[in-house]
Amino acid sequence: MFACRLIAVLVAVLLSPSFAAAQQSPQPVPPAVTQALEAIAKDGAVTRVLDAIKGDSKRMFEEQVRINEIPAPPFMEQKRAEYYMARLKQAGLQDAYIDREGNVIAVRKGRGGGPKLVVSAHLDTVFPEGTDVKVREKDNRFYGPGIYDDALGLTTLVTVIEQMNKAALKTVGDVIFVGTVGEEELGDLRGVKALFRDMKDIDGFISLDGVGMGRIVRHATGSHRYFVNFKGPGGHSFGAFGLPSAIHAMGRAIAKMGDLRPPTDPKTTFTVGTVKGGTSVNAIAGDATMAIDIRSNGQPALLAFEAQILTVIKEAVDEENRRWEAKTPITYELKLVGDRPAGMTAVDAPIVQAAQAALRRVGIERISLAASSTDSNLPMSLGIPAVTLSSAGIGGGSHSLNEWYTPVNNWLGPQNVLLTTLALVGLDGVTQPLLQLRAKP
Ligand SMILES: [Zn+2]
Repeated sequence: MFACRLIAVLVAVLLSPSFAAAQQSPQPVPPAVTQALEAIAKDGAVTRVLDAIKGDSKRMFEEQVRINEIPAPPFMEQKRAEYYMARLKQAGLQDAYIDREGNVIAVRKGRGGGPKLVVSAHLDTVFPEGTDVKVREKDNRFYGPGIYDDALGLTTLVTVIEQMNKAALKTVGDVIFVGTVGEEELGDLRGVKALFRDMKDIDGFISLDGVGMGRIVRHATGSHRYFVNFKGPGGHSFGAFGLPSAIHAMGRAIAKMGDLRPPTDPKTTFTVGTVKGGTSVNAIAGDATMAIDIRSNGQPALLAFEAQILTVIKEAVDEENRRWEAKTPITYELKLVGDRPAGMTAVDAPIVQAAQAALRRVGIERISLAASSTDSNLPMSLGIPAVTLSSAGIGGGSHSLNEWYTPVNNWLGPQNVLLTTLALVGLDGVTQPLLQLRAKP
């Protein structure tokens, strides 16, 4: 998930009121959206479902613990996926299946003619195979790596399905419930990339990720990551003096990069995160590698700044070779190891407005719009309306072995998701869908 990234956003908000005003404050919700939400929330069947969700608090938390204790390391989500598929079937979606990429998918059909909305949470964690994922309580905090990122989102999702089906709520549009693989780090959004490759008719996308009700992510921070490997002849520092050095070439590249100035709007950043190379202190290096992380809140800015970086790397290698009039020159190889596209959903998009109105309806007053890197990056980059929402409760220590969660008012998460979803796809006989049908390719 994105807690570390989120902290950065929060710090930015605290430090910069103009940033907060420009990017983070939600706009007022139009009366039509508020009225649709009211009509849904006051519907007899929906009211009973909202109450049932509240009464289900304890069982929900037990489910969250159960999911968390099934390890789901990067690229090894299968065991958890199988459990999750069985769970969705049990919750009433008999057609649940696992796709070729490993995503769990279950379609809940609407009346017909309405939009198709994906509601998803991610199956994978950042924790490697062998990590102890057992949940332990201490001082009313439940510790377990992955406990809210994203066992909580998965639980919110299954709770909504179960309650919708128990009450036989009928929607206008279809809801496609998905447990995605590969959201974290080097998973590189492989699950959601496969989903949008295979399903061309999705009209909207919601990702449930992490803890902290009131946050609506509508900006997708994009990133490109590279390993750059420099190779050269290598040789004795004294005896072979005069040969070009892989480390010197890399040093030149880093110095040139360090002088670059990425745009501040959209926020665009870069860093050389790791370097390694060389054989010993008295050898001209024949090998060196660095890892570069480039991020931006805008896709054109990301690509433009990436082009600058790639240019200075080439210049640096040319300079090193010229400097030594190298007969055996330094060469380099670029490997793209991370590709998350940037994007955004309009501040007045129905999906943002519905999420705001639903949060208000369940009693959340403090709502913020945020930028982050989540599964929503992919649909946002395709121009498909998307938001990432957090579930209820409190927690901390994301992506660490000390990740913890306390299920305070945990029912608010599924209540909020239920209302947002019904507003977007329409509750049959009560409201029209707020989510628009896209012109299909
Ligand atoms: Zn996450």
